Amino acid sequence: MLRTKEQYHDRLFSMRRNVYIGGQQVGRDDHRLRPGLNVLDVTFDLARDPEWKGLATATSSITGEEINRWNHLPQSPYDLLQKQKLIRLAARRVGGCIQRCMGHDAINALAICTKEMDDATGTEYHQRFLAYLKGYQSEDLDGTCSQTDAKGDRLKRPSQQENPDSYVHIVEKRKDGIIVRGMKMSITQAAYADVFFVVPTRALMEEDADYAVAFAIPADGEGIKVITRPVWLRDKDDPNAAPFCTYGVSDSVIVFDNVFVPWDRVFMCGEWQYGRRLALLFADSHRHSYSGCKPGVSDVLCGATVLAAEANNVARISHVREKLSEYAEAAELAYAAGVAAAVYGEKTASGVFFPNEIYANVGRRMTGESIYHEYNILTEIAGGISVTLPFAEDFDALETREDLERFIVRNPAISAGDALKIWKFVENVGASPMTAWYLIAGVHGGGSPVMETIALNIGYDYDERKRLARYLAGIDAEFDDSKMRSLEPSFGDGLMEERKIKKP
Ligand SMILES: Cc1cc2nc3c(=O)[nH]c(=O)nc-3n(C[C@H](O)[C@H](O)[C@H](O)COP(=O)(O)OP(=O)(O)OC[C@H]3O[C@@H](n4cnc5c(N)ncnc54)[C@H](O)[C@@H]3O)c2cc1C
Repeated sequence: MLRTKEQYHDRLFSMRRNVYIGGQQVGRDDHRLRPGLNVLDVTFDLARDPEWKGLATATSSITGEEINRWNHLPQSPYDLLQKQKLIRLAARRVGGCIQRCMGHDAINALAICTKEMDDATGTEYHQRFLAYLKGYQSEDLDGTCSQTDAKGDRLKRPSQQENPDSYVHIVEKRKDGIIVRGMKMSITQAAYADVFFVVPTRALMEEDADYAVAFAIPADGEGIKVITRPVWLRDKDDPNAAPFCTYGVSDSVIVFDNVFVPWDRVFMCGEWQYGRRLALLFADSHRHSYSGCKPGVSDVLCGATVLAAEANNVARISHVREKLSEYAEAAELAYAAGVAAAVYGEKTASGVFFPNEIYANVGRRMTGESIYHEYNILTEIAGGISVTLPFAEDFDALETREDLERFIVRNPAISAGDALKIWKFVENVGASPMTAWYLIAGVHGGGSPVMETIALNIGYDYDERKRLARYLAGIDAEFDDSKMRSLEPSFGDGLMEERKIKKP
């Protein structure tokens, strides 16, 4: 089933009222959540649009049915490339974060990790997860990845915390399921998701076994509170608002107060040895998703900068052209890292095709590091107007309209009306609550920068480079370059076959 956005709304609006914003208990139809819903709507619209069939949709590896690609387990490099392209397409439509990738990355991680746990320890999580996913796919549900715990004292392990609820944990195992408590934080789209996928956030030790827990739960389940901070733009309710102003985001603290999870939705329960693996599988899949969305964000910033340069009549000046080329570099290197991660990915025991971790991490690290610089280019070329522009109402008011119409025109080839639209857009992109959200999300989303450093230090073979240097320096007589064999692209049974199916 490919849901319409109306079907998505109907289900959301009939949910238990367990969302809290600014001290009020609200329904999911609260106006402050609407900009976020508008983003999710695009993921439903794209899947139903014949033009994007095969990109926004995929063939389920479980049922063979056509499903929304966000709910698909990638089976080949082609699937990963399609996911990356879909994310960039969708990110460009909404002017930034498409939010639905979290659930996609969570199901990948759960599919892979449950299979590995079963193979190594004889548990039966994988079939259970696939049975759950079958229903999730056929109902075209939208899920969060609820990974980041409140964490408390960062230097203490979960079991050492003064407040045991700093991390979500198992408090009771019953015949029919488990009872969980604790808090997750910074969970994007939680207030308008159907389902929460809950996974561990870090490596665990034996004494943390109760914190080794993964499950899926309806977002309005008994005992769950969703305390939400939405982000929106000033003009969101204006019927004439520019498209960019109609989109927003929200993040939530999710409180689990002795929540019952039936066994058929429990996908890890005490297997502390796999906490790190599951956490990393989500993070690496999410870092690959960034190689689609971050180029989309750069596209928006680049476009805004070109408009600002034209409005200032400096578009042809050499230092401006040079700065614009930095967007091309940031966007396309990130995208290229995602393509490389897809092409050099690997088939896991679960059948899920997983991106190459090195390429996913270097791409993500580069985009995280460059994000402030990219916003700075816009600031530099736009000048200070993005934070000093009078309100739109002053451009309408009788007493000030004429003055402001003359004020706003810089390049005589651009009308006062278009100039105002340009500068409002530049303000919203470069100096709004959404700007701050993108800056911080760019640094911490998918893990703080040091997590990419750790992933690279684990996965990157420095010794092999040292042996190369020893040979080139004449210290060693020989050098074994068989390592280069691991750079075989995974075309064979994946990329080409899928292409034949999708594009005869
Ligand atoms: C906009 C936004 C959206 C997000 N969406 C989601 C989401 O949908 N789902 C989700 O699960 N998460 C989400 N996150 C959370 C994100 O993954 C985390 O912010 C990130 O992992 C960092 O965790 P933190 O914020 O708790 O920072 P911290 O972990 O407190 O990190 C702060 C600093 O302390 C350092 N540090 C922390 N612990 C240690 C330690 N033990 N030893 C040494 N140094 C340490 C870190 O390296 C970092 O430099 C989102 C975050 C943002 C900003």
